[in-house]
Amino acid sequence: MSDLLIEATGVEKWFGTAKVLDQVDFAVRRGEVVVLIGPSGSGKTTLLRCINHLETIQNGRIAVNGALIGYRQLNGKLVPDAERNIAIQRRDIGMVFQRFNLFQNMNVLQNISLAPQLLRGTKKADAEAQARALLARVGLPGKADSMPSELSGGQQQRVAIARALAMQPAVLLFDEPTSALDPEMVGEVLAVMRELAQSGMTMVVVTHEMGFARQVADRVVVMAEGKIIEEGAPETVFTAPEHPKTRALLSAVRH
Ligand code: ADP
Ligand code: MG
Repeated sequence: MSDLLIEATGVEKWFGTAKVLDQVDFAVRRGEVVVLIGPSGSGKTTLLRCINHLETIQNGRIAVNGALIGYRQLNGKLVPDAERNIAIQRRDIGMVFQRFNLFQNMNVLQNISLAPQLLRGTKKADAEAQARALLARVGLPGKADSMPSELSGGQQQRVAIARALAMQPAVLLFDEPTSALDPEMVGEVLAVMRELAQSGMTMVVVTHEMGFARQVADRVVVMAEGKIIEEGAPETVFTAPEHPKTRALLSAVRH
C-alpha cells in the first residue's frame, strides 16, 4: 500500500478560458493533516472538488488510495472512468462543507446512518449503533432524535462531521468548515477536528483559522492564482514565509 493517500500531479483545471488550477502537485501521506490556505478565488475549493472528482480535470492525474480517480488508463491514454467506479472510490473520501448540507427532512440519526446502509450495505441496526457512537464522539450524545433545524450551526456542523465519519473514509476533506458559523461556535467544531487529527485521521483542511493550523497541521500549503506557491511546517510558513503573496495573506488574517 502506498504511503500516499492523495497524489495529484500536474493538475490543470479550466473553467472555460480561465485556468483555475495550474500545474498543481499535491500529495498527502496517510495520517497527515494538511491545512490549505490562500486568498479567495485561488482555487482551494476547486482542488478539493477535483480530488473527489466533483470536477473534471483537463491535464495531470489524481490518485486516491493508490487508484486514479475519475479516469482510467486505456492504451496509454486517460479516459473517463465509469460512474460506478467513481462512486466506489468516493466512499473513501469524506467531505465537510462550509454549509453543513444536512438532509433537513431527516433526524440526526438518519442523517448519519443513511449513507453506510445505502453505499456500504451496513445493516440498519449496526449503522444506527455506529451513528450513536459517532454522536458521542462529536459531543452530541443526546441529539439522535433531533431535526437539523433544532440544532445550532456548530451542532449541525458536528453532525456533518459524524456523517462523514460514518462512511469510515480514508481521508476527510474540509472546505472552510467554520467560516459560516457564529464566532462562539467555531471552537466546538475545531475541537472535534483536533481530536480527529490526534486520532490519526488523514485530513485536508481549507481554513482561515491560523491558530488551528499552527497547532494541528503537519504541513501548510499556500495557494495563489491556481498555483501552490509555498508549503512547509506551520511554524516555518507562519513565522518565515518566503513568498510575498504568503506574507500578504498572513498579514491580512489574524494569526
Ligand atoms: P477558493 O476556494 O480558493 O476561493 P475556488 O476554487 O472557489 O477558489 O475558485 C477558483 C476560481 O475558479 C475563481 O476564479 C472562481 O471564480 C472560479 N470558479 C470556481 N467554480 C467555478 C465554476 N463552476 N465555473 C466557473 N468558474 C468557477
Ligand atoms: Mg473556497
